[in-house]
Amino acid sequence: MKSASNRIKITWVFIALSLAGAIFLMVSMMTQGGKWATSSRNAHLYVNGTLIGAGNITDADGTILCSTSDGKRTFAEDSEVRSSLLHVVGDNYGFISSSVQNQYRTNLSGYNRIMGVWELCNYEQGSEVNLTVKSQACKTAYEALGGRKGAVCVYNYKTGAVLVSVSTPAYDPENIPDDINDNDAYEGVYINRVTMGLYPPGSTFKVITTAAAIDNVSGEMSKTFYCDGAYHTSYGDIKCMSEHGNVQLKEALAKSCNSAFAEIANDVGGKALQKTAEDFGYNQNISLGKLGVYKSVIKTAKDDQLELGWAGIGQSTTLVTPLLQTRIMGAIANGGEPVEPYLVQKVTSASGFTKEVALTKTGSRAVSEETAAELKSLLRNNFEAQYGDWHFSEGLNPCGKSGTAETEPDKTPHAWFAGFLDNEEYPYAFAVIVEEGGSGSEVALPVAAEVVNALAQAE
Ligand SMILES: [Zn+2]
Repeated sequence: MKSASNRIKITWVFIALSLAGAIFLMVSMMTQGGKWATSSRNAHLYVNGTLIGAGNITDADGTILCSTSDGKRTFAEDSEVRSSLLHVVGDNYGFISSSVQNQYRTNLSGYNRIMGVWELCNYEQGSEVNLTVKSQACKTAYEALGGRKGAVCVYNYKTGAVLVSVSTPAYDPENIPDDINDNDAYEGVYINRVTMGLYPPGSTFKVITTAAAIDNVSGEMSKTFYCDGAYHTSYGDIKCMSEHGNVQLKEALAKSCNSAFAEIANDVGGKALQKTAEDFGYNQNISLGKLGVYKSVIKTAKDDQLELGWAGIGQSTTLVTPLLQTRIMGAIANGGEPVEPYLVQKVTSASGFTKEVALTKTGSRAVSEETAAELKSLLRNNFEAQYGDWHFSEGLNPCGKSGTAETEPDKTPHAWFAGFLDNEEYPYAFAVIVEEGGSGSEVALPVAAEVVNALAQAE
């Protein structure tokens, strides 16, 4: 009797294991099916690493950025458009892992969980992916960077549509250079610097320090700071670019006075400064559809006078991506609420069915409407008092802040410019970094202006 009961038990265990296995397989099919079907090892979809039969990738105006013909995956006609959009579109070899070709390959192949690869088999074409980028403006950005390493990002702060996303160095996916892995000029070429480049923010961070001061220290806007060319602490000094004498916050921001901002950071305190930065998206996951974005980081909670002084001028351990810089400017322009950026506008099946469409999504509030209005007026004053509007086409109403971010003692600093247009017709927020470019207002600002002018002119 005992052995019979054991056999029954064993039978039940077998049945349970088989059921668990079947359920596991079904769940895996549901969740992993797309990856299996579109794996680069699947010979029905890939020939020599090329995603054959995959749908078109187009820009916002319908220009084809990538398509399939005669079993070959080809890119935009213009070689500079191809290079400028390398990190967004990708290549044929999957070198740019964060690209649309790579991250949206399931859509491009026409695979879906219910119908499998039916769409591809019946139409010999996968789904079409429409992007939000404007390829001509991306080309302008690529040319404006002029062979220097860096990034340009522009987005519509009312809708979230990313209009320009350019990272350099880049290469033409139709003509990959032979020395790409040996030549220093291609260092970090596979990284999309817009979403994955982490840089010290330098003086662009003074905008966050200002926001923290407005919200946490009463009377800080009318306080007078004295700059004798440095901010002094018992642990060492923080140098300023000039001797500004007596300045108030508004003037200190326009002149980018380090002495005043190191003191402001100490008036605010590490905890409040970090909290304000986090409200603007530091230490938070920022989404860009299926495309990966690195987290920008800040840690200033320690109340060390010198360290906090450095943090207040963006020269501590703080690191930021050009995408977050753009979103921060978008939040200020948009009354304190950031709109989440996106790059894929729509995915349409070969049969004309809309499978995915981007929706405007507002992120959590960074600052109050009143604080945003005050910051906007200060960033507008930076142009009126310091940079001049002349870089931009007439009437665009630019607002923004430059940054010259020190990296290593013997290296030229990175040039930053982050800003937005206070303009209903052209609601653009933008950020530009030129690695080892030097002065932010002299080097990065003209790049930003050229790209934004081209965008406004094309509308
Ligand atoms: Zn100063």
